[in-house]
Amino acid sequence: MATKRDYYEVLGVKKGASKDEIKAAYRQLAKKYHPDVNKEPGAEEKFKEVQEAYEVLYDDQKRATYDQFGHAAFDQNGGQNPFQGFGGQGFQDVDLGDLFGSFFGGGSSRRRSSPTGPQRGADSFMRVKISFMDAINGKHIKLPVTYDEPCVKCGGTGARSASDIETCPTCHGSGTVRTRQQTILGTFESQSVCPTCHGTGKTIRAQCDNCHGAGYNRVKSDIEINVPSGIAAGQQIRVSGKGERGNNGGPNGDLFIEILVDKHPYFTRDGNDIHITIPISFVDAALGTTLDVPTVYGDVTLKIPAGTQPDQTLKVKGKGVHDIRGGDRYGDQYIHLDVKTPSNLSREQRDLLQRFKDSEPRSESTWEKFKNSFRK
Ligand SMILES: [Zn+2]
Ligand SMILES: [Zn+2]
Repeated sequence: MATKRDYYEVLGVKKGASKDEIKAAYRQLAKKYHPDVNKEPGAEEKFKEVQEAYEVLYDDQKRATYDQFGHAAFDQNGGQNPFQGFGGQGFQDVDLGDLFGSFFGGGSSRRRSSPTGPQRGADSFMRVKISFMDAINGKHIKLPVTYDEPCVKCGGTGARSASDIETCPTCHGSGTVRTRQQTILGTFESQSVCPTCHGTGKTIRAQCDNCHGAGYNRVKSDIEINVPSGIAAGQQIRVSGKGERGNNGGPNGDLFIEILVDKHPYFTRDGNDIHITIPISFVDAALGTTLDVPTVYGDVTLKIPAGTQPDQTLKVKGKGVHDIRGGDRYGDQYIHLDVKTPSNLSREQRDLLQRFKDSEPRSESTWEKFKNSFRK
């Protein structure tokens, strides 16, 4: 493999360069080497190199990793994008064997997917229930979690210093041992995890005093989570590095928090729209009225037009849920009417309704129209 140039050198910036400086340097070089502009041999390679360096150095997290470990952590991924899957599901594919080696001065020619290399821990999952209104307005929550934090003092190796790490004498660093068994069917050779080093390929002479050789410390702490406004039931929030611990100095997995949302006694949610059913008297529906209708953001004054029908839905624009993707997008609120027919009429009310009925010309009543339509 060709030696890779230092990313800072590629962009021609100082190690402590600001993001603006990095961006400016990238723009200038990208313009210079862009294959559409520069037809000289090697320009395209230069362009790719510049792009790769920019992708890493402009991203704070990637840059920090690069500053700490250099190319070693990512070279073996081989693909176009050295960070593909970094921190994600594909992380296991990246052999960090070299990282371990260069960090502690050991060998650096370990095979890909070596069983003794650092392995990322599994993701863990949690469920948290929040109220209907908190899902709409967003909420800052503190969650008590317990996880294993890789020991910073020994880099997860469990050793006091680099010189305290030795190649395991039992398996000579492979992490596995072969055993031969004579049976009547012949000789069988089987492979199993080395009992001395438990597969790490290394033994430790003196243990790290911070983690007592474990390579990690159990931590109980409250993590703070911003539940964004507009989150829906079933959506997950990822907290990176708070999952199960990794092996052999590998990073932790991530913690996924699934959000459950309580029901509301009146509001229901459909995507970003809110629905509510309100009771209204048949007189108000017939004559029209003005009502202060609840929305998730407080009451709004709503005009119910005269002659409103029970199956009619009224819409209040923009009073739905804030779109979780951000911006200024909101759903709407839909108001369904539950038109109430009075059941306990006073004598006076019954007389008034009887007079109302008598006032309707028989031929024009709704029922007569309906019946007549069958005769045609
Ligand atoms: Zn061993
Ligand atoms: Zn330690």
